[in-house]
Amino acid sequence: MKASAAATHTSLIKQKAKELGFSHCGVAKAGFLEEEAPRLEAWLKGNMNGQMHYMANHFDKRLDPTKLVPGAKSVISFLYNYYPEQDLAQSSHYKIAKYAYGTDYHFVIKDKLRELLQYIYDTIGEVEGRAFTDSAPVMERQWAQKSGLGWLGKNSLLLNKQKGSFFFLAELILDLDLEPDIPLAKDFCGNCTRCIDACPTEAIVTPGVVDGSRCISYYTIELKEAIPEEVKGKFENWVFGCDICQDVCPWNRFSTPHQEAEFQPHPDMRGMKKGDWEEISREVFNKVFKKSAVKRTKYEGFVRNINFVRQKKEEH
Ligand code: SF4
Ligand code: SF4
Repeated sequence: MKASAAATHTSLIKQKAKELGFSHCGVAKAGFLEEEAPRLEAWLKGNMNGQMHYMANHFDKRLDPTKLVPGAKSVISFLYNYYPEQDLAQSSHYKIAKYAYGTDYHFVIKDKLRELLQYIYDTIGEVEGRAFTDSAPVMERQWAQKSGLGWLGKNSLLLNKQKGSFFFLAELILDLDLEPDIPLAKDFCGNCTRCIDACPTEAIVTPGVVDGSRCISYYTIELKEAIPEEVKGKFENWVFGCDICQDVCPWNRFSTPHQEAEFQPHPDMRGMKKGDWEEISREVFNKVFKKSAVKRTKYEGFVRNINFVRQKKEEH
């Protein structure tokens, strides 16, 4: 039997995604995310976005991909592994989230998505489409879940049975009919509560809901002012982001190292000792994090984070 155009296009796109290094690719039919609307509203009403005011913008666009790409028919979700060969947090006194070791993923992934879009134009033809990776109001985890790529864990992240959760999410929204994948029928967290129990700031307020304004990632990256005294002593030496609720997740025992040269840390980062971090100069910061997402905090923010974590050591 002849495959439908939708099936042929879907398999072409999935094949190309694999060639570009995405570990997984899934498709969902574009449409209003009805069940997410009340959840997002409650999250925003509870001020769980803290100073991340951008989260409250474009409420409708977040829930409806046709508001981002007129006539959108499909949302394609991709996973891109960033689990490092060497977990620097094991040996370094001050800890940086694994996703930020190498070149800022926004650039690396966006380039790949652009290439994929070009491939679609060349092989399939005139298609309206946009590429996203953590860069626009797209409910990435929900789309990935709808595309059969995993389930939303109690730590609110997308978990994949083969890969765990140390991957970036990216999407293409297209006005092209594709064959949707089937979402998983259940989640595989079971009775586990390791992430909730391990979170040092009690940011996972109920299973699956993270109060963003209480998360170490928020304090160390998003918050522009002084970090509140009430969380002093709780950061477990994380100074840019936090991997705790992923590190403790049993599904991450399936993580395997990425093969992306761009995600390798700057060689100087590996050798940084406690004192080197504490005395880091603007020059060293700019050199070590030249391409990394750590630059988001700027030098002043990074030093603020180190001092905040240090003070706890001195005062306790
Ligand atoms: S990233 Fe860290 S602070 Fe945030 S919810 Fe996970 S364990 Fe808690
Ligand atoms: S630590 Fe346990 S509860 Fe949390 S996301 Fe992983 S499996 Fe689910």
